[in-house]
Amino acid sequence: MVISNFNDPAFFSQIHYLCFMTDFLDQDIKFLPGVGPKKAALLEKELKIKNFRDLIYYFPYKYVDRTKIYKISEIHAQMPYIQVKGKIRSVESVGLGHKQRLTARFSDETGSIELVWFQSIKWQIEHLILNKEYLIFGKPSEFNGKINVVHPEMETEEEQKLKSAGLFQAFYVTSENMKKKFLNSRAINKLQLTLIQLAKGKIRETLPSHLVKRLKLYSLEEALFNIHKPENTTSLKNARFRLKFEELFIIQMKIIALKHNRENKFKGFRFEKVGFNFNHFYKDFLPFELTNAQKNVLKEIRRDVNRNIQMNRLLQGDVGSGKTLVALMAMLLAIDNGFQSCLMAPTEILAQQHFQTISNFLNGMSLGTALLTGSTKASERKEIHDSLKTGKIQILMGTHALIENTVVFKNLGLVVIDEQHRFGVAQRAKLWQKNDLIPPHVLVMTATPIPRTLAMTVYGDLDISVIDELPPGRKPVETFHFFENKRKQVYNFLKQQLEKGRQIYIVYPLITESEKTDLKNLEEGFRHITELFPEVKTGMVHGRMKPVQKEQAMEKFKAGKTKIMVATTVIEVGVDVPNASVMVIESAERFGLSQLHQLRGRVGRGAEQSYCILMSSYKLSNESRKRLATMVRTNDGFEIAEVDMKLRGPGDLEGTQQSGIGFDLKIANLGKDGEILKLARLMATEILDDDQLLQKEENRVLLENLKASKQNEFNWSSIS
Ligand code: ADP
Ligand code: MG
Repeated sequence: MVISNFNDPAFFSQIHYLCFMTDFLDQDIKFLPGVGPKKAALLEKELKIKNFRDLIYYFPYKYVDRTKIYKISEIHAQMPYIQVKGKIRSVESVGLGHKQRLTARFSDETGSIELVWFQSIKWQIEHLILNKEYLIFGKPSEFNGKINVVHPEMETEEEQKLKSAGLFQAFYVTSENMKKKFLNSRAINKLQLTLIQLAKGKIRETLPSHLVKRLKLYSLEEALFNIHKPENTTSLKNARFRLKFEELFIIQMKIIALKHNRENKFKGFRFEKVGFNFNHFYKDFLPFELTNAQKNVLKEIRRDVNRNIQMNRLLQGDVGSGKTLVALMAMLLAIDNGFQSCLMAPTEILAQQHFQTISNFLNGMSLGTALLTGSTKASERKEIHDSLKTGKIQILMGTHALIENTVVFKNLGLVVIDEQHRFGVAQRAKLWQKNDLIPPHVLVMTATPIPRTLAMTVYGDLDISVIDELPPGRKPVETFHFFENKRKQVYNFLKQQLEKGRQIYIVYPLITESEKTDLKNLEEGFRHITELFPEVKTGMVHGRMKPVQKEQAMEKFKAGKTKIMVATTVIEVGVDVPNASVMVIESAERFGLSQLHQLRGRVGRGAEQSYCILMSSYKLSNESRKRLATMVRTNDGFEIAEVDMKLRGPGDLEGTQQSGIGFDLKIANLGKDGEILKLARLMATEILDDDQLLQKEENRVLLENLKASKQNEFNWSSIS
């Protein structure tokens, strides 16, 4: 059977779906009463709203409770939007020309306030009725010691009865340009209410009825109406739930469908045996017992590579959790089954480190390994190319150099990619293509923990393994946060550590071209440290140094020749110096959480107790306070990632920028809607397990929905 994805026309050839051009929501926005061609152009330019659907899917960002009506005596200028019932007692036009304004005295039985208009004055004068009861709605402010409300929204009792805005007033994001043309939040709200009136009975359901029933979801129509004009808090909650669920569910449907699609399309090499090399290494060379987490991941990998289907697995594990070893054992498995493997790292230093580590582990076993990076000499490169073709090299390690077209393998069976987030999806794909027919198995490793919810989306087409346990005997790093007043004590502490023979990192914020002060701070810090600790050697690395200089400085520190390393975040990734036991981070409030966590991961690699000291200024934003407190509280990378995502929002998280996925979720929030996401994934899995091609009549609406959905950002993972 030929399997294709949702965007393949052949897939739909036998399905008669309604032509979308006749759909009510497809009508041009200019045909909505109150819009017209000019506003339509503005809506399209500023908000990309072209038709009724775009408008109704333009959701409010907040709601104000309109059940509460205040007395004028209760009002003060610090209040948000408020409602008052009262009468206009007098109207006065003040000033001339563009300074002209209209003021009205508005009172109830407890007092009076001023209403002010700067625009559409003539219209107001003609329409305002004295001594008639109005319900006004607006934001109070203070001017010349008096409370006023500028451009209030006003309704007479009759108008209220005719078209109530609902109990909650919805607010919409609009641009300055729009406000100038009177297309403010209130105007958008009015358009939404008009649209809802027109749309009654015309909004087609997009989810299968069995799903709607099972989850007791609002119908699409109910949800869309209530999101703009909620009847009460429960209906708002239900509306949001339905819309969030659908948004996440559609994404999960696509991801899982793509995964099925790939699994059906691509055969995988079968690694049936656990053979000599794996066993020999395990019994005779492995210097320690594997952790349970490592064993479990290896079991998962073995299951994957033994099914005739290409493995695509993401291995998440905190720094130091022992991912490299797992990768090595997977590569031995490949060798035992007659295949080559490669391991790709994002930087030269890391590739070298892997090469050294793995060569050490394998010392005594006669296996062909090689290192290929950008700086490999031409003659050596040639030799490597040749030995790859003959199969003499069984494990190739390196950087991006591995991807080049000149690198040809005899039979590449397994690709391991370290620090996934540094590689683009396209690069991942290039490695797949190293074989003509059957792609190699792929294991991607990342030390940047990704919250489960995010992983389900960003890496939703991969299977995920987690190493959630550190090798035994490792003492958790102790973390402290200090202000300037403790600097002396901190230096005393560093002195003690140096006397014990330990090494120290002192990290400053990143130097960028524009930030001269950062460089100054770093250099001053360096000078200061050299003066304070004349008895030891201090080194320095930063991003503006030449690569050779950087590496020399790192080498010296690694070899213990320098005891203190003053650095920027260039040392962030992967560098391994077990004797370094203290990480001091200056201006820690300027670092992101995941960065702080990565930096802390540089210490605590040896047997000694390690420390992380966060120095900050007294002035801290709430967010940086939370970041630092989180660091002090926990060493758990996943917990930190969750906090990070809540603080920053998923779009900013490291690892998402290059994933190829735009996070233009309209209503769901990956940081907060984890439970809904889980439900969405579960439902998507169940439906696709039962009806892989969505051929059942009961799933037809869903198929149409998927086909019509514009977001096709997930196509990248279906590489053919
Ligand atoms: P990661 O790549 O996950 O950051 P590594 O694979 O570099 O971690 O492992 C960190 C250190 O822990 C290495 O020195 C490694 O040899 C050691 N190690 C790995 N697994 C174990 C284990 N099961 N027991 C003891 N030490 C281990
Ligand atoms: Mg590593």
